[in-house]
Amino acid sequence: MPLYGAVEAGGTKFLCAVANEPGALREIRRFETAQVDPGVTMRQVTEYFRAHPGIAAIGVASFGPIDFATGAITSTPKLAWQDFPLRATLERALGVPVALDTDVNGAALGEAMAGAGQGLQNLVYLTIGTGIGGGALVNGALVHGLLHPEMGHMSLRPAPEEVDGFTGVCPFHRNCLEGLASGPAMRARWEVPAEDLPDDHAAWKLEAYYLAQAAVNLSSILSPERIIFGGGVTGRASLLAQVRHETANILNGYLRHPRLLGGMEDYIVAAALPYPALTGAVAMAQRL
Ligand SMILES: [Zn+2]
Repeated sequence: MPLYGAVEAGGTKFLCAVANEPGALREIRRFETAQVDPGVTMRQVTEYFRAHPGIAAIGVASFGPIDFATGAITSTPKLAWQDFPLRATLERALGVPVALDTDVNGAALGEAMAGAGQGLQNLVYLTIGTGIGGGALVNGALVHGLLHPEMGHMSLRPAPEEVDGFTGVCPFHRNCLEGLASGPAMRARWEVPAEDLPDDHAAWKLEAYYLAQAAVNLSSILSPERIIFGGGVTGRASLLAQVRHETANILNGYLRHPRLLGGMEDYIVAAALPYPALTGAVAMAQRL
């Protein structure tokens, strides 16, 4: 059985693992990257994989934006990584093919292979945390385009109760999904961190309304078989039930499928994997 390498590249940490198949990550290592030169991080990653001889290919699920043509990180606010040729650097250092995709596409694929979307060919993975991002699998393939989807920046309709108040934290768009529903948006809106808000706080109904708008938009555009929510904010157990309820309200019975007309427990679900992007990175390597 071939051995694959997997990397989840984040702004504050890189995770590395090896595996024979997506559901079987081994020897997960974490490298802190905040205030660390990219050259140092690349050396740590290279040394990690050199210690596992026989790797056939490596998948990298990375923060972005990413230019898939060049395999480089592009205009990130993490200045040291701007225009960093991530794919070429690893290919040169390790002499194996490297697949590069976004962390959220990686997570979508990971959940499809070994998590909450097993057996599905069409799904969306949305992560709600410090930022909001989404990846999509359509007919079994990860969606790329001119660039790559930026689901966190879809425009939303502010809730009626926002009319004279909060206008969103995204510096580019204000009332996009990330501007209205990310962790920092909740903190700015309610002046306390999301994790300190009790379950019965009005914040959660509003949050569910925004996540439901996203679910409705994604359902309307991509018709996924399931939408999987991950990230810190969705760790709140009662939230997804409210998202299902609000989604049904907005859809108003228009999309006719049993999975959408019932309680939606099988349509809007929580991520099942502890490391979805790292798991997906193994599948990306496998697919090379
Ligand atoms: Zn935005």
